[in-house]
Amino acid sequence: MNITERWWRASSKPHSPLTLRPRRHPVFTVALCVTLLVALAIPAARPAARPLAGSDVVFDFRPAADILSMWPGVGKGATEAPRRVRSSERRAALKLGQSPAHRALRSFIAAENRCVLTDDNFARVVTHPDSTLCGLSLQPAYADRDKLRALVAELRGRADSLRPRIAAEAGRYLPPAELWRPIRIWFVVSSRWSFDAVTLPPDMAGTVEPIVLVNLTEVIEYGATTTERVETLAHVLAHEAFHSALRQREPVLGGWAKYPLSARSPLNYIARIMADEGVAHWVDWRERPGADSIFTARVPGPREAKAFDQLALAVRRVRDRGGDAGARTEVLQMASTGPLWSKYGAISGMFAAYRIESRLGLDSLRAAIGGGPGEFLKMYGRVAAADTLLKRVPAALSGG
Ligand SMILES: [Zn+2]
Repeated sequence: MNITERWWRASSKPHSPLTLRPRRHPVFTVALCVTLLVALAIPAARPAARPLAGSDVVFDFRPAADILSMWPGVGKGATEAPRRVRSSERRAALKLGQSPAHRALRSFIAAENRCVLTDDNFARVVTHPDSTLCGLSLQPAYADRDKLRALVAELRGRADSLRPRIAAEAGRYLPPAELWRPIRIWFVVSSRWSFDAVTLPPDMAGTVEPIVLVNLTEVIEYGATTTERVETLAHVLAHEAFHSALRQREPVLGGWAKYPLSARSPLNYIARIMADEGVAHWVDWRERPGADSIFTARVPGPREAKAFDQLALAVRRVRDRGGDAGARTEVLQMASTGPLWSKYGAISGMFAAYRIESRLGLDSLRAAIGGGPGEFLKMYGRVAAADTLLKRVPAALSGG
């Protein structure tokens, strides 16, 4: 199945009916040609640039709901292994594995775990959740299946209020655009302790837009009740929506081309993580309960100080010509992966974004994102230069 083609057709305008009309009368044809020439001569009115809107955010709960529908309710038996699976169940599981969201999930798992999750293996993990194949285990999701069902129902019920909220929070830091591609969010159930949400590039998801995958199994850990889980998830969705929207705008925003999502140029990579992950984390954390104890107005708090100290150390280590390539790669990975407060690139960038917005205003931070990571670091450099209490970005990174 050509998924790219499917998505392209699903999201593009239908063909003009004019191209399908049979030839009628010469007068009709001449009139049609004149109309077309006039239409071509008048430049079409360009839509006005606008911020990201709720209608740009598209939720798809089916991938998770389809898997959950295959499992019996808690206490309804059939939990013991090995259980007998009907051939129709197996066929349904194989078919689920072919859906765009599960293909994307399988590509992601394959890349993360360096193995191939075949059609048969994916189906087996669904029909026998006690199996672990290629690092995918649905046992925790199976055990929590009723909580997951409640979560999907709550998300469905609140989708109309969540989408504009997510768009407003993510779009706040992006320059307005004439045209936004959809921010597609696919909800899946996957392993626990793997990922909670991730933005995948189109080539990995087989789509034309970046895709946000949300692992609801992990979202169960966000809180004790469905309501608490949805509240926290809203922040995480805004975080990923920012990444997704930024990816689609990057080619037309000046200053991002020099900072790709690859570690070929280590310093540019760290700068990119600080701007991209930094602002995404600021979107995510600025309105969470307890944010006022993290973002301390006058003096950097311990988390802010630690992130900048680790950033300075990381920059020294990646510039050390004596160090081996493996160690350098590891240092770069730690910029945005690992325990939350140890992700030195994402966290120092989050505090830099907070300082820019609180000292220079929202418009300045948005302009910095429009200008790319170099502009973001320069702007923070000016804020830090005006207040000796603030932590500095290493000169090698900001080009200073
Ligand atoms: Zn992120």
